[in-house]
Amino acid sequence: MGTLNETHDPALRSWVASANAADTDFPIQNLPLAVFRRRGSHEAFRGGVAIGTQIVDLAAAVARGAFDGAAARAAQAAAGDSLNALMALGPAAWSALRLSLSRALREGAAAQPLLESCLVPQADADYTLPARIGDYTDFYTGIHHATTVGKLFRPDNPLLPNYKWVPIGYHGRSSSIVVSGTPVRRPLGQTKAAAETPQFGASQRLDYELELGFLIGTGNALGEPIAIEDAEAHLFGVALFNDWSARDIQPWEYQPLGPFLSKNFGSTLAPWVVTMEALAPFRAPLVRPAGDPQPLPYLDGRDDRARGALDITLDVWLQTAQMREAGQGAVRLTRGNAGEAAYWTPAQLVAHHTVGGCNLQPGDLFGSGTLSGPGADQAGSLLELTQGGQRPITLPNGETRSFLADGDTLILRGSCERAGARRIGFGPCTGTVLPARAPRS
Ligand code: MN
Repeated sequence: MGTLNETHDPALRSWVASANAADTDFPIQNLPLAVFRRRGSHEAFRGGVAIGTQIVDLAAAVARGAFDGAAARAAQAAAGDSLNALMALGPAAWSALRLSLSRALREGAAAQPLLESCLVPQADADYTLPARIGDYTDFYTGIHHATTVGKLFRPDNPLLPNYKWVPIGYHGRSSSIVVSGTPVRRPLGQTKAAAETPQFGASQRLDYELELGFLIGTGNALGEPIAIEDAEAHLFGVALFNDWSARDIQPWEYQPLGPFLSKNFGSTLAPWVVTMEALAPFRAPLVRPAGDPQPLPYLDGRDDRARGALDITLDVWLQTAQMREAGQGAVRLTRGNAGEAAYWTPAQLVAHHTVGGCNLQPGDLFGSGTLSGPGADQAGSLLELTQGGQRPITLPNGETRSFLADGDTLILRGSCERAGARRIGFGPCTGTVLPARAPRS
């Protein structure tokens, strides 16, 4: 679990002026990574680092000899069309690159003229997924989400008895994970209401899920679990993640083996991965309410208890097609905090996932599960916000929503703010709903 060092100094300023704006997501203390190319070009995708409104093109910086030693090897590994090779190098390499970039981007740095020639404006960039995601696992760490949703289905028994003992998860689908900005098509599928037989057609209860995506750095060998004390060192970073869900397909299909087509039509990952080192000033204790069971020993680490949770403020914004046509900006639906929402820490998810011997690989993705706070205004999905669709919300322009409509654009935002630290953010994670394809007749 990263300790604070000179790269976190809140007094640091960059010669990239936009990085010094108070409200930027990407000050010099953040330095998240993405994979990009110039918009509309046929250039190769390559790794880049956000600074203010700009991207440091790592392939260009490597070609111009901007880095030495371990930082040069790390930057070279990030110069290809995914960050997997960098992820495989481990925390010392990630940290060397961060320190080198922090020094080179500071006000007065001798490297300014060289790195200035490697900047690409974010406004001119297209992104692809930051990693080739081999496997995607979706967890269910949001205890308030689990309780609220459980109440809708089982009023007497909202939280199943395993919840506080075992991090619940299922193996998801990586092929349909898309980068922020990619439209997501409303799925077709079977649904079953009161009628005796199921219906086939477009989902009428399309929803979002506010999640964090945890990207695995170094993996483990098959058969060799990762101990809770070592788990953080296997985590590369965090990106915002919208795990779209079809709430009408799910109840009919999910027993006994779990979610399937209700989840596998698309998930949206933000392009920018905020490293665990950048998050070091924003860690929080793992809190267990009085009377809850203590984690079993393989899920219980001293450091993890002290600061395993993430203090990240998470927002959900919506812009309907009608709002867009009227020139109206997105409206915020909810705001919550990841640390308050999650019952399990990222390190516990790594320890649990591997304890039976399962091997993780660089670029694997864990979804946190829907991160809803305890309050009704902190819901991480429309299912919760509208109480199963029974209490539609009214938007400022008079439109109502129980679930998402075609043309709706959903935007997730995240940021970290603490006294004594520079505010950092995650950049937006957006997706617009396309109409379903016509079903076969
Ligand atoms: Mn999910």
